[in-house]
Amino acid sequence: MTATLLFASKTERWTTYEAPLRHALGALGVKYRLGTDFPPEEVDYIIYAPNSGIVDFTPFTRLKAVLNLWAGVEAVVGNPTLQVPLARMVDFGLTQGMTEWVVGHTLRHHLGMDTHILNQDGAWRKTAPPLARDRRIGLLGLGALGIAAGTTLARLGFPVTGWSRSEKSAEGITCRHGEAGLRETLAQADILILLLPDTPATRDVLDADAIARMPRGAVVINPGRGPLIVDDALIAALDSGQLGHATLDVFRTEPLPPEHPFWAHPKVTVTPHIASETRPDTAAEVIAENVRRGEVGEPLLHLVDRDLGY
Ligand code: NAP
Repeated sequence: MTATLLFASKTERWTTYEAPLRHALGALGVKYRLGTDFPPEEVDYIIYAPNSGIVDFTPFTRLKAVLNLWAGVEAVVGNPTLQVPLARMVDFGLTQGMTEWVVGHTLRHHLGMDTHILNQDGAWRKTAPPLARDRRIGLLGLGALGIAAGTTLARLGFPVTGWSRSEKSAEGITCRHGEAGLRETLAQADILILLLPDTPATRDVLDADAIARMPRGAVVINPGRGPLIVDDALIAALDSGQLGHATLDVFRTEPLPPEHPFWAHPKVTVTPHIASETRPDTAAEVIAENVRRGEVGEPLLHLVDRDLGY
């Protein structure tokens, strides 16, 4: 059987994905047609980005699965017209990129790099930073990205406590779950990293009450999703000194509007949703493997639980 794969994303992405996809599908011996324009009733798999413009999956009458190009699925998971399995992206390049971004921004705050980078003014500020073992990390989310970033930070010597929905274990990470586990994770987070998905259960997880449980002067780093944080509570905590800094990559509205107070706040660093992205070479292998699995009736990798929303 020949599988028909519709690549549904922005045009410029097609130019970077087409060759890696053909290579990966060929390497697995998948028989396929791949393109950006097929009649819906001929499509077996949609390689999907939320900005593709597809909002109604009903015309795709023989669709076998939707293969999301991104890790986050909040834009598609609740679509009632989607009646086939939805796989999210877990990609070596995406994971590695996120680990590098998280470690970089953690080290910025841990080492107090701004003191010297921003103050080349002739003053000899001779205070050595503490060792990693004296800086406690809290990590909300122990999925593909959280575990990778957390174990790397642990290898550098940081004590890492991580929180997830279900009970987990990961090398070097003290794993917690449930309400009590969240409180414990927050209470010891000199630096708190958010790598949760955006779901009804995680929205507003970092509200005023949660922030008040953190050590005074703690730093928040959010490469997860904007709705995890209550913006007003974060700003109030930065203003009062309860929080020392927030480095934010994701926002409730993106691009972050120019008038949003985060831009001008002296204790906020805004990065424009660049913490990590799917890398065509490695992601193509994941997509090809899922098409192969779909064609031989094996379970797909990285399936989304539609009820949980991630
Ligand atoms: P994942 O593998 O699905 O992991 C999600 C983690 O969150 C899991 O540990 C899960 O717990 C936990 N979780 C979910 N709901 C929870 C709840 N109600 N309470 C406590 N823990 C909960 O996702 P991932 O691949 O690591 O990606 C995480 C998120 O990063 C994505 O959803 C996306 O929003 C974001 N992201 C951002 C960028 C960027 O450039 N800024 C790039 C890629 C991804 P269990 O382990 O118990 O299931």
